[in-house]
Amino acid sequence: MQSALVTKAIALGIEVMGEVEVAARLFDCRMIAITGTNGKTTTTTLVGEMMKFLPCKTAVGGNIGQALSKELQGLGKNDWLVAELSSFQLEGVRTLKPAIAAVLNITPDHLDRHGNMTEYIRAKSRIFARQTSEDYLILNFDDKIVAAFAKAAKARVCFLSRTQELKEGAFLSEGSFVMVWNGQRQVICAAREMRIFGSHNEENALAAIACASLAGVPMEKIREVLTTFQGVEHRLEYVTEINGVPYYNDSKATNPDSTIKALQSFTGGIILLAGGRDKNTDLGEMMALAKTKVDALILLGEAKERFRAAAAEAGINAIYAAGTFDEAVSLALRLAKPSQVVLLSPACASYDMFDNFPHRGRYFKELVNKYKNQPAGRIF
Ligand code: ADP
Repeated sequence: MQSALVTKAIALGIEVMGEVEVAARLFDCRMIAITGTNGKTTTTTLVGEMMKFLPCKTAVGGNIGQALSKELQGLGKNDWLVAELSSFQLEGVRTLKPAIAAVLNITPDHLDRHGNMTEYIRAKSRIFARQTSEDYLILNFDDKIVAAFAKAAKARVCFLSRTQELKEGAFLSEGSFVMVWNGQRQVICAAREMRIFGSHNEENALAAIACASLAGVPMEKIREVLTTFQGVEHRLEYVTEINGVPYYNDSKATNPDSTIKALQSFTGGIILLAGGRDKNTDLGEMMALAKTKVDALILLGEAKERFRAAAAEAGINAIYAAGTFDEAVSLALRLAKPSQVVLLSPACASYDMFDNFPHRGRYFKELVNKYKNQPAGRIF
């Protein structure tokens, strides 16, 4: 809902703009702008790391870290700003003209705010609306909605694809990341050389390769970042190993789509901790996948009962309900055997038990590390 202050300002003919628009009007430096329903923070962080190798100042901001106008301070005409932009931020831009823009994917999300899918797509398309032929637009070829943006683009389009080799663009070929541009083909590294994993992270890596190479980062530096980047906290984050079992913190998975990505990233043998504040999202697809990947499902929080019913309907047998978060983690410890993994990927918001998802993730890591450091026999 629009605030009374904004309504009044509009009525008085006063221009109202968002913070990103303010930054766009102030900035003089070059910008890489990244959006998408999922993967923004991971991709923006990766690109930010790669850009550090350029012989100029670089900064990262927007939907991540500090406000853009803050990050712009001290950046000159030849410097670079890497901006993570959400659809909420893009909704209010008019003059934004990034030298490089990237759209990762578009799936239904935030429809409560944008009203319908058309409006959501329109908000995302603002990232390239002002671009001209001297700019670049990176689009995911594997996402139909995103790929269709190419028709309306004035910028030079660089596609990325996980699933097929492209004449030009960034893609996976026989398990390796390849960039073909201006007639040059460069193989960067094998996807399995990355520390981050899962097909979604391969897409994020391809987007980062395209952004950084178009900005002039040498390929060997791009390779260096890809093979050493540890990932962003709370996104399929490796915590530690206890008794031969690895523990992963994916607290950022606050909806079933994200949990599906996490489940797809493992071959199986998962002890899954899920639940929290229920968003009443459809659980069918997630539970069907969980049936094939999960050895035990430990349910938590307010969503417990609905999740239990959906899991039972999908044919999952080993379902446990935990009274508290601590109980869920200690149960996972008790059940887990080598060759399995313990994964916190809740598919729910955290507000029933925590301040936010980082709080939940940090608490999980604290508990796991506490158990790891306790003398054997004192865990339970
Ligand atoms: P965002 O900033 O857009 O929320 P993140 O990089 O923080 O994205 O990742 C959030 C979650 O989204 C991850 O835990 C993962 O489950 C999922 N995700 C990440 N990248 C992708 C992608 N390229 N496609 C689909 N899902 C993704």
